[in-house]
Amino acid sequence: ARKKLGKLKKTPAITKDGTAIALMANIELPDDCEHAMESGANGVGLFRSEFLFMGRGAASMPSEDEQYEQYRRAVAAMKGRPVTIRTLDIGADKPLDQMEHTALNPALGLRAIRYCLAEPQIFLTQLRAILRASMHGKVRILIPMMAHAFEIDQSLAMIKRAKAQLDDRGEKYDPDVKVGAMIEIPAAALALPMFVKKMDFLSIGTNDLIQYTLAIDRVDYEVAHLYNPLHPAILQLISMTIAAGHKAGIEVAVCGEMAGDTKLTRLLLGMGLREFSMHPSQLLAVKQEILNSDLDSIAPQMRKIMRAMDPDAIADAVMALQVL
Ligand code: PEP
Ligand code: MG
Repeated sequence: ARKKLGKLKKTPAITKDGTAIALMANIELPDDCEHAMESGANGVGLFRSEFLFMGRGAASMPSEDEQYEQYRRAVAAMKGRPVTIRTLDIGADKPLDQMEHTALNPALGLRAIRYCLAEPQIFLTQLRAILRASMHGKVRILIPMMAHAFEIDQSLAMIKRAKAQLDDRGEKYDPDVKVGAMIEIPAAALALPMFVKKMDFLSIGTNDLIQYTLAIDRVDYEVAHLYNPLHPAILQLISMTIAAGHKAGIEVAVCGEMAGDTKLTRLLLGMGLREFSMHPSQLLAVKQEILNSDLDSIAPQMRKIMRAMDPDAIADAVMALQVL
């Protein structure tokens, strides 16, 4: 019998065969933590920090103290559960009033970590604020749009520098804050050894991974019909990322829209995914799907799905997982 979703809030997300799954919330502002807690989230898997920077007009960036206060609020609201704060991911579909917008292809332009490395003072300010918030709970740092080895090295060097700056000021932080990379550019998914060696965890951003793999502007309705999460290339990239992360002993999450789609829950479980991060409103429905899923019956179907090239055959096979 299917319980009313609300009753599942405190039920741990465990598959029928006994595999525990972490269900995390995506948030945009600290106030969203209330919704995350109400949905029974195990933590915040994606705090889109750029929302603290957007809609402020051209002149101002949030100060370190202002950011610290917001991160601290989110961390406190989650009561000891991990809060994964993604560093500023602006540009393209998330424009900043403070930035010039002249790029012909903003999705391919100076955005996210590229922007942060080009604006070290803005990046360092944010990193110090995040690090200070780590004194109030379990904080993880997530870096968006990574593709190049030097971006990994420079990001880690910047975190080290932000820590040294806090040391100089006598401010405290958790020295063991974990640092992860978003895998959302196909090049990153195809160069995973570069990431698993230096990162503490990975989070797959399927929204951008689909955009960049299929060359579909994610906000252009004229090509929306081509935006297919079940394209075999997408399935390969997601599956490879999960496998490579686990082989290296690090956690891998999916935090793009795919994680909150109950039609895809069993597919992702079958690929080995054990951490899903989604809008809080989707969390209990995904949990229900997990409670009704049996990994032992999904596993034999996965070979067929991962080998298929015909889109209808893939869609049918993924649908068939739902009635196992
Ligand atoms: C993604 O790209 O899938 C993602 C989670 O980040 P955003 O949607 O904020 O780009
Ligand atoms: Mg993204």
